[in-house]
Amino acid sequence: MAKGKINVQTENIFPIIKQFLYSDQEIFLRELVSNAVDASQKLKTMGSLGELKQEVGETIIEISIDKKKKTLTFSDHGIGMTSDEVEKYINQIAFSGAEEFVAKYKDKASIIGHFGLGFYSSFMVADKVEIYSKSYQKGSKAVRWECDGSPNFELEENPKRKSRGTDIVLHISKDSEEFLEEGRIQQLLDKYCKFMPVPIKFGQKEETVELDEKDKDGNPKTKTQKVDRIINNTEPAWTKTPVDLKDEDYKSFYSELYPMNFQEPLFHIHLNVDYPFNLTGILYFPKLKNNLEVQKDKIQLYSNQVFVTDSVEGIVPDFLTLLHGVIDSPDIPLNVSRSYLQSDGNVKKISNYISKKVADKLEELFKKDRKAFEEKWDDIKIFIEYGILSDEKFAEKAKKFTLYKDTDGKYYTFDEFKKEVEKPQTDKDKKLVVLYTSNTEEQYTYIAAAKDKGYKVLEMDTPLTAHLVGKLEQTYENTTFSRVDGDTIDQLIKKDDDIPSKLDEKDQEKLKPIIESVLPAEKFSVNFVSMSENDQPMTITQAEFMRRMKDMSAIGGGGMMGMGNMPENYTLAVNSNHPLISKILKEADEAKQKDMAKQATDLALLSQNLLKGEELSKFIKRSVSLIN
Ligand code: ADP
Repeated sequence: MAKGKINVQTENIFPIIKQFLYSDQEIFLRELVSNAVDASQKLKTMGSLGELKQEVGETIIEISIDKKKKTLTFSDHGIGMTSDEVEKYINQIAFSGAEEFVAKYKDKASIIGHFGLGFYSSFMVADKVEIYSKSYQKGSKAVRWECDGSPNFELEENPKRKSRGTDIVLHISKDSEEFLEEGRIQQLLDKYCKFMPVPIKFGQKEETVELDEKDKDGNPKTKTQKVDRIINNTEPAWTKTPVDLKDEDYKSFYSELYPMNFQEPLFHIHLNVDYPFNLTGILYFPKLKNNLEVQKDKIQLYSNQVFVTDSVEGIVPDFLTLLHGVIDSPDIPLNVSRSYLQSDGNVKKISNYISKKVADKLEELFKKDRKAFEEKWDDIKIFIEYGILSDEKFAEKAKKFTLYKDTDGKYYTFDEFKKEVEKPQTDKDKKLVVLYTSNTEEQYTYIAAAKDKGYKVLEMDTPLTAHLVGKLEQTYENTTFSRVDGDTIDQLIKKDDDIPSKLDEKDQEKLKPIIESVLPAEKFSVNFVSMSENDQPMTITQAEFMRRMKDMSAIGGGGMMGMGNMPENYTLAVNSNHPLISKILKEADEAKQKDMAKQATDLALLSQNLLKGEELSKFIKRSVSLIN
């Protein structure tokens, strides 16, 4: 038997491993199964290259728990290791020294899944590890290695492993006994190993099989038998070529990926590149509605079918994290910190590639079947808006397929819409004014007033609207966006043909304090506007600029922090040509005059959804007595 010391400079490296990686203990399982997969794949590769003087045979990996012995064992039928190889790969290579280890991991609290720690991560959960291995090489002797977590190891010939391959036996430590529970291991296998490329057996299951014999009714007899339970799908959809997959295949892979999500995705994108980096994957568009909240089902990142993480921020552009699916790339460096990741050249290329692919796919869907695309629009628009706001290249491409819906449910691209409204909606300063609404119900009267003039109003109702219209104004020259309740319609789109006012300045001076007296002064300023007598007598508006700032600060960003606390400010526009206004002015009975003014302002408040509580109830009472 050989005894020796693992080449580390501090007395005991394993407490350090535990300390650094404690929070992610469970990854030992992924590391050990990955090693078993690698050993099996190497054998297969040699087999296919004709370098093997034996049959490859079955390469199933088995994971088993022995509760009595408190062991968790990983067995493979891979290439195995000779005594020299154990010496080289396990004793020497894994760590060249504790100092180097510490230096390597100290600043990397956020390394993705602690890749690269490999075999030694088993000491996070075990206080003794044994390796039984027999190399595929002819005449090689089976070996046993043991280490109890100190730098001391034993290595000897041992006949226990009879056939080619390796058993890694973890003697689970007292504080890690959860890893002796079947349920816990199953959960981890589901998380990390669900799509690994070599079959993995964990326990057995009952299966009903049909027999050749028939029962008296002529139905085949059945029996239940125990069969190996294979926990993984070795050929997940993303590893196949798109031509071999039907729509159903993509859908069923979606439910395999997210078993708890019962909604069908809208469409998918199959990613497949091998130059200048290697990347495969399938992205799905879920129904998003107007929801920007963090998704429960996230994009999963794999490296050669080994699960790495489902927090892909920094690897894909932010807006793409709203999508679902899988990305598999061995070219994403995994043993680095997130901040490093974002500056990595490959990662940037990958990120650009994905967002270009997504834009291309959207354009293709738009061109191929516009109607179907329009039907999906409301479910994906928030995603596209997010993309336009955060990714310049995407924004440029998105011009071709971004849709705008008017209040009659008709969809336009921006260019189409511009053509449609250019004539009526260009104001006297030659600016195109695009009117929009964030709520067709609440802003109904304003929309109706705009439509009366022959204008069109767009529905823009996501939490990103305030940011988006700002961006669009920068993109399209000579264009302003105005929410339809931002001012009276004649003020929103100013034309040359000024309507003469029926009230002169004196009249206005007389009426103004009366109206002001029935409104909370700190919130409202009163303005006289010369409108058509068919327009509303009074209209309440909130300036576009102010409202946008508040909306932006509500979802954060744009340097608008704190704007949310600004007081609400409104303008009450009094239509100086409306007969009711003249009537109020001429009313001799002062109490009655005030009542009329109050009733008229309440109506304006009501149509802006601003009349509430006690004021609303008073209004109703007053209205009833007016009808009586
Ligand atoms: P890595 O897998 O990153 O190389 P590890 O510390 O996990 O690092 O493993 C070190 C080496 O030990 C591997 O590269 C491989 O040569 C060998 N090894 C580990 N597990 C097995 C196994 N199950 N079968 C054969 N060789 C193995």
